Amino acid sequence: MPQNTALAPTPPPNRPDGQRPRVVIVGCGFGGLEAAKALSKADVEIVVVDRTNHHLFQPLLYQVATAGLPAPAIAAPIRHVLRKQIAHGNLTVLMGEVTSIDTASNCIVLDGGEHLHYDELIIAAGATHSYFGNDQWAKYAPGLKTLGDAFTIRRRVLTAFEQAEREMDPAAREPWLTFAVVGAGPTGVEMAGTLAEISQHTLREEFRRIDSRRARVILIEGAPRVLGVYPEDLSERANEQLKDLGVEVLLGAKVTNITAFGVHFDTVENGVPTSHFLPSRTVVWGAGVAASPLGRSLAKSTGCELDRAGRVVVQPDLTVPGHPNIYVVGDLASAKSYQDPANPTPVPGISPGAKQMGRKAAFNIIRRRRGLETQAFRYFDYGSLATIGRRAAVAMIDLPFTKKQVKFSGFPAWLFWLFVHVYFLIGFRNRIVVMWDWAWAYFTSQRHARVFPDPHALEPNAMLVRVPPPSAVASPAGTAAAATKAATTSAPGSTNAA
Ligand SMILES: Cc1cc2nc3c(=O)[nH]c(=O)nc-3n(C[C@H](O)[C@H](O)[C@H](O)COP(=O)(O)OP(=O)(O)OC[C@H]3O[C@@H](n4cnc5c(N)ncnc54)[C@H](O)[C@@H]3O)c2cc1C
Repeated sequence: MPQNTALAPTPPPNRPDGQRPRVVIVGCGFGGLEAAKALSKADVEIVVVDRTNHHLFQPLLYQVATAGLPAPAIAAPIRHVLRKQIAHGNLTVLMGEVTSIDTASNCIVLDGGEHLHYDELIIAAGATHSYFGNDQWAKYAPGLKTLGDAFTIRRRVLTAFEQAEREMDPAAREPWLTFAVVGAGPTGVEMAGTLAEISQHTLREEFRRIDSRRARVILIEGAPRVLGVYPEDLSERANEQLKDLGVEVLLGAKVTNITAFGVHFDTVENGVPTSHFLPSRTVVWGAGVAASPLGRSLAKSTGCELDRAGRVVVQPDLTVPGHPNIYVVGDLASAKSYQDPANPTPVPGISPGAKQMGRKAAFNIIRRRRGLETQAFRYFDYGSLATIGRRAAVAMIDLPFTKKQVKFSGFPAWLFWLFVHVYFLIGFRNRIVVMWDWAWAYFTSQRHARVFPDPHALEPNAMLVRVPPPSAVASPAGTAAAATKAATTSAPGSTNAA
């Protein structure tokens, strides 16, 4: 049934003190930043609240996690990005965590307990990791969402090689040289590919006791193919490229537990369910995404519906039902595109979706304040890109003005991926830094962001654990099938933190 995609105009609420209406934007990621910029000429007072001091370009976060880029190359201070609007006098930036939303009194509540009034609210708080109810795995298998996550992964990866060099017992050394990545979505695939590159190229002449090229990178995926949201032929090509880079890909493997000593998973082989244990001291989580907890707070306050991932189900104009002054955009929104109003389609959780939603929310605020009806969101899909590693990527691009799509992979897709990501980076200086670092890395295989703070201070005992791994059969280097078979064991597991 065709839906009424435009909402009837409601008179803009007046502020009792006669001041300009206040638009509060929670989160300055892709959605929040676009909303703030799109409101720059509107006659409103804008307050941007973020729990960090920076806008983060998440698509290149794995480069920080794998020591390819320094953090400032992919993150910019929010104050600096929005300095012109701050100087203009209509925008304030506050660093703080929003803990709840009180829609009865039109206030957001900050971590210090302060209440901040809004006339219009845009919530763009993004997403976080989901461990599918197993939050205890988080300390052994960090996910990749924030700069803090990237620093943790970088430290653990580089520390694992250091620990392997120190370890005299070959059996105890193997788990330090085994890197497990759980989840073969875009993040897992790019992490696995780049870890393989580090071991094969970057570190190969820098150790005496170990050969870094013997390190194993194992990508564990529950589904039957990698990059499941891509068409099957591109998934297949991604799989081949991963193998060419030296990654062992385990498909149809369901992770059942993660400890300080490795990953337990189940497979079904010839119809027989089998349990396995993969000894590994470094596990990266790329499997699950959940919406920001602010979605739950909003649902508590407004009774709005949440989807299975905790995202707020929004109206066609991106507002919360019954609350025409509250918009939810980006990864926190379960939104539909009304390109074809009779057949709305879900908007994917990627940066173009968040940016376009942020702009639409700002646009609808301006329309509503002028007494005009708001408009339904229409998502413009330009295609998808996923990088796998050095000279390896897959691309699916919609050609403009036609209904045609082109698919390509390998070196051309990788070059295209480089160009797009540099183009969308914020700041002229960042683009130069990233282009220079990538060119240097391409020709020398070096990664220059390899320093990290004293690990003892950050994770006590990180370098000291000498507890033997649980009774498990260590899997030899080799094929994915060999890894599955050889790693099979009944699976105990101490939970001592490493
Ligand atoms: C590792 C990784 C790789 C990715 N690669 C790609 C890619 O290649 N291409 C692509 O298109 N998309 C990619 N994405 C997805 C893309 O980054 C997201 O879709 C996009 O960031 C969503 O934008 P957003 O504004 O909803 O949230 P975000 O960009 O995540 O911004 C949320 C902001 O809200 C702030 N915040 C959160 N909670 C609070 C709170 N309670 N109080 C105050 N502030 C808060 C955060 O600090 C953050 O600044 C990737 C994501 C990740 C994690």
